Amino acid sequence: MLEASHRYFHRAADLLDLAPKVREVLLTPNRVIKVEIVDETDDGKLMHYTGFRVQHNSARGPCKGGLRYHPAMDEDHATALANLMTWKTAIVDVPFGGAKGGINCDPNEMSRFEIERVTRRFVDRCKEVIGPTIDIPAPDVNTNADVMAWIMDEYSRHYGFSPGIVTGKPLHLFGSDGREEATGRGVMYALEEALRDRGRELSGSTVALQGFGNVGSHAARLIAERGGKIVAVADHKGGVSNEKGLDVPALVTWAAEHRTVAGFAGGDAFSGSEIIAWPADVLIPAALEDAIDGTNADQVRAQIVVEAANAPTTPEADTILARKGVLIVPDILANAGGVTVSYFEWAQNIQQFRWELDRVNAELEKSMRRAYAGVRELAKEKSTDLRTAAFTLAIQRVGRAALSRRSLRENIDLG
Ligand code: NAD
Repeated sequence: MLEASHRYFHRAADLLDLAPKVREVLLTPNRVIKVEIVDETDDGKLMHYTGFRVQHNSARGPCKGGLRYHPAMDEDHATALANLMTWKTAIVDVPFGGAKGGINCDPNEMSRFEIERVTRRFVDRCKEVIGPTIDIPAPDVNTNADVMAWIMDEYSRHYGFSPGIVTGKPLHLFGSDGREEATGRGVMYALEEALRDRGRELSGSTVALQGFGNVGSHAARLIAERGGKIVAVADHKGGVSNEKGLDVPALVTWAAEHRTVAGFAGGDAFSGSEIIAWPADVLIPAALEDAIDGTNADQVRAQIVVEAANAPTTPEADTILARKGVLIVPDILANAGGVTVSYFEWAQNIQQFRWELDRVNAELEKSMRRAYAGVRELAKEKSTDLRTAAFTLAIQRVGRAALSRRSLRENIDLG
């Protein structure tokens, strides 16, 4: 996974004719943390997990990024995802650097109390190197507002009341209005912009979606509210389709109860993997990485792919999709709405001043549309695709900050 994110980086770095020394400065993580978590399960058995936190780059501000609880979590994943966070925060121009982390546990097999204990142990092991001005975690796959509340509580036990240590907290515990749906809302704005690039609009467009968790379900709801037709949804257990458009609020209720979209009566069942080749105008991967790879990219029938998930398209697939003329809105732009509202939450925590939902959503929309426009403009100027343009913009911003804070001997031109 790290290799893939480096390949995208080098594609943009080549365009900027960036010196090898600067590439190394920008690609090397500041800090890689690995902790062991050993505790008891509720019935007295041993549980032993490994936790990771990679702080990639803090040239533009404290490191920022999600915490993922998943059996596949490892240093490679954390480093690759931390890298992406550095570029993402630069594209939406929030004053953060990039980080990512997680624990290689499977919360689906754990009780709420076990998840809480593992979370508290993780914070205890990392507490000296995270903090509101150092590194601020947030939710990611299989973590949510409850997990963020435990992190805040554990950290505050050592350092005093510290709501700014995490974002994505519950509303009643200094979370921000609009944070939970922010990534999905940002995906919807990114899709609107992409459709405009293709001379179309949301109303009447058909959308196939992989992943119906935090990001996928909110994106689906907001797209449907604006007239888009969600014709197929798949998750880790299966899929459901309806060519007239799925009843998204009913599907949200079903998925909340059953922890899957599979079995929903308002459509036809299909095996989840077919979603990539679904006949729809738009494909939104909103689950895990590498969903579109060299084996299935050729089957994609959508004209637009909006990467709501992180790293859902392998470089091989990216080349195939480009050849087919598919417009790809890259992850570091498409899903940046989450970190944008995380920034609003952090700012509210620091200032101890609450923003109303209208303000959060208006600022988010402004930020997403501005970021998209900046990337689109650079793509035109450099005659390149949106992903390379997004990386180029990010490298310029992070590079300028990094080189102002630690000068190299020669003059570096960042374009
Ligand atoms: P989540 O845990 O809430 O949901 C994940 C969804 O993916 C679930 O519906 C799950 O069933 C599905 N899924 C898992 N494995 C699958 C598989 N093999 N095939 C099909 N579906 C599968 O996670 P989330 O927070 O919605 O995150 C989804 C993606 O968005 C991740 O790549 C994450 O890094 C990225 N992301 C999340 C945020 C955020 O604010 N939560 C922000 C930016 C990016």
